[in-house]
Amino acid sequence: MDIFIEPIGRLINEFTKLPGVGKKTAQRYAYKIINMSLEEAAGFAAAITDAKRKVRYCKVCGNFTEGDICDICLRRDKSTICVVKEPKDVIALEKLHEYKGVYHVLHGVINPMEGIGPNDIRIKELLDRVNEGGVTEVIMATNPDVEGEATAMYIARLLKPLGINVTRLAHGIPIGSDIEYTDDVTLSRALLERKSI
Ligand SMILES: [Zn+2]
Repeated sequence: MDIFIEPIGRLINEFTKLPGVGKKTAQRYAYKIINMSLEEAAGFAAAITDAKRKVRYCKVCGNFTEGDICDICLRRDKSTICVVKEPKDVIALEKLHEYKGVYHVLHGVINPMEGIGPNDIRIKELLDRVNEGGVTEVIMATNPDVEGEATAMYIARLLKPLGINVTRLAHGIPIGSDIEYTDDVTLSRALLERKSI
């Protein structure tokens, strides 16, 4: 980075921390910022710190929210809980405008190879919600890869004795792929044709 003057080199270095941003792209981003007006650049910087300061996890579902409890938890049908790995999976499902229930974000999946066990993700919080009563169906919408399937099965075994109908998104989502990157039509059908497990 020595060929750049220090402030530009530093900016480039910051951009390379973003996923999918290599040195060339980081350079382009840095030059774009330098060419902005001071107001524009300040707005950009403020958006980053503002988001960091204001965004937190919903106390109920674990999704991103500005307040203590997210809008989905406040307004929607609580009898159905859709369990996902990450907040971005909520976005993928919400884009369909079909699901009327609430979510539960695990913030990970069980992955023994990486030392992630059931107690490292938000399974206990899910059981607490179910034990509060009123839940009739839990949809397991973890990714259809090895860890996602194992996590779905693990949770299903815990919930079924409680009389909960545990369902899994129908196949059609390619094995090993991500809910996040599944096209809307496929994901929509997988949700509609979910099956009990
Ligand atoms: Zn919530």
